[in-house]
Amino acid sequence: MKKEVSFMVNKERMKKTFTDLVKIYAPSKGERQVCDYLKQELRKLGASRIVEDNGGSINGGSSGNLIATFNGNAEGLPSIALTGHMDCVECCKNIEPVLENGVFRSKGNTILGGDDKAGVTAILEGLHLMKESYIPHGKITVIFTVQEEIGLFGSRNLEEEYAKDIDFGYTLDADGPAGSVFIAGPSEYTVDFICHGVAAHAGMCPEKGTSAIAMAALGIAGSPNGRIDEETTCNLGTIEGGTAVNIVPDYCAVHGEARSRSKEKLEKVVAAMEDSFRKAAEKFPEGHLEIKKEKAYDAFTVKESDPVLRLFKSACDAAGFTMKAAPSGGGSDANWFGTKGFPSVLVGVGMADFHTNKENLKEQDLYDAGELVYRIIEAESHFNH
Ligand SMILES: [Zn+2]
Repeated sequence: MKKEVSFMVNKERMKKTFTDLVKIYAPSKGERQVCDYLKQELRKLGASRIVEDNGGSINGGSSGNLIATFNGNAEGLPSIALTGHMDCVECCKNIEPVLENGVFRSKGNTILGGDDKAGVTAILEGLHLMKESYIPHGKITVIFTVQEEIGLFGSRNLEEEYAKDIDFGYTLDADGPAGSVFIAGPSEYTVDFICHGVAAHAGMCPEKGTSAIAMAALGIAGSPNGRIDEETTCNLGTIEGGTAVNIVPDYCAVHGEARSRSKEKLEKVVAAMEDSFRKAAEKFPEGHLEIKKEKAYDAFTVKESDPVLRLFKSACDAAGFTMKAAPSGGGSDANWFGTKGFPSVLVGVGMADFHTNKENLKEQDLYDAGELVYRIIEAESHFNH
């Protein structure tokens, strides 16, 4: 049952915005130019406030998160966030987008950049349509983050004051056509096991040495690895150490991660990994073990009955899109927004084969994502939260 009225996004405008955006070189930490472009667009759209947080730089990057607010024009409607990220993975320099047979691809040896310029374009189009159709809406906060691709550093560092009066949000940064929504994501730890031994000549006096590699091997052998259960995984992914075959190695570092949608299970699997390395270290009294553990992001879960998902469902219904909710195995800005105080779901914008040179985006998926953003805003006025 598709659409009660003939509804149209402005396709030419969306095509132009999308191709303009992907042509701008925007690697993680190098978002300055795209940030300036978006500032201009948001100004044209009539944002009441446009700011860059963190003094205009996060981790030495060229810009902060870009935050724009649109004041509500009606009482009692939810305050929502619409978010996307400004950076791309490499290779994203000199992207030449081409549209053939209804599909965007890159002409050269680069990604397309639909991750996440498709999401950003959809948000801008939704705001254009909101402005053009004079609909009632609550406060809208647009957040374009930096450095999503290298560890969610933008959302992680989002200044709390910009998050504090947002009820819930939509992070337009996932695959799947309009209606696809990820309603849960795992927590993740990164863990480094740094084994220190004692160096000695391997031929003349190996008994004076303590092998850090042997310690690491024992730790790895006893550690959980791979899939633990349906919602928990862990991986020891890289290893480095040793200097020469004739030297007992005094250094070996093993880097790993663990993820779970259950915080308890995550703590348990990380504890088991640590335990294995500690037991291994005990067997090498001359050496010692150093463990560095960092929370990469926290899990999030949204229920069917939560306002964020109910509003999404009613937007999909109005547009004739089928809502398809599923958990995600990866982390996204939505994880950090939850930690910052507002629940956010991860919304599909159609990107396919992203992070590769085969990346592509169906033209219709882009238009549908633009319509969906508009429908989310429109649904606010007939929504009980
Ligand atoms: Zn992305």
